[in-house]
Amino acid sequence: MRIVVKVGTSTLAHPTGRLNIRRVECLCKTLADLKNAGHEIILVSSGAIGMGVGKLNLPGRPADMPTKQAAAAVGQCELMYTYDKLFEEYHHTVAQILLTGSDVENEVRHRNFRNTIFRLLELGALPIINENDAVVTDEIGVYNTIGENDTLSAIVAVSVSADLLVLLSDIDGLYTADPRRDPTARLIPEVEAVTPEIEALAGGKGSSLGTGGMATKLSAARMATAAGTDMIIANGADPGVLYAIVEGRPVGTRFLARKEHAPCK
Ligand code: GLU
Repeated sequence: MRIVVKVGTSTLAHPTGRLNIRRVECLCKTLADLKNAGHEIILVSSGAIGMGVGKLNLPGRPADMPTKQAAAAVGQCELMYTYDKLFEEYHHTVAQILLTGSDVENEVRHRNFRNTIFRLLELGALPIINENDAVVTDEIGVYNTIGENDTLSAIVAVSVSADLLVLLSDIDGLYTADPRRDPTARLIPEVEAVTPEIEALAGGKGSSLGTGGMATKLSAARMATAAGTDMIIANGADPGVLYAIVEGRPVGTRFLARKEHAPCK
């Protein structure tokens, strides 16, 4: 399978902004193993700003744009250094691709992106993608900006015709109500279509270090499933959950690809 895995800052870092070493090691080991088993893996990783915050010893996620972008520039190096080191242990080569909204909208750049990523996959490399936060502002809806990595990962999954998009988050999946507030909330294992009723279940923004929330995940689901890609939201606390996902066991919430666009298997 060609699988796009998106990890959020809340999965990669402790609330301090410092790297969650145990978890990131488990993530890299699992992804390396899935690659060894023959799957094509593309990682969309957040964490640049969060790691920059930790590395620069800032008190929290900066509010002003230049500091945010400076943190991203520092943190992106740290992020790739960490991935390079950990994947190297399992003899896998990583490649960094940083995108902006313009790269996706511009036909030539988008084609170049696809060419690069397909060649990287042929060469056996593991592409790791993030938004180029140092040159775009991270406000959703601002021109040229993708804004957050749920959407970015869906754009990537659609661009490469992935079989599966997995969003690893700090929540188990989509619930009937906010499980942090409502004890009667139930996990929804499968969603056939992102209807207005489903959209109504999405609350606001998630943890303090990340930028996504359920609303951006549902919009990612809409994009991915419309293009024939299944999408799963699962808890990234144990990245080993990816084994169960790849084996097709019920984990988190699975959004089913729209049948009329399903790719030939
Ligand atoms: N691109 C941002 C970062 O690497 C994160 C965006 C997101 O978490 O959605 O810090």
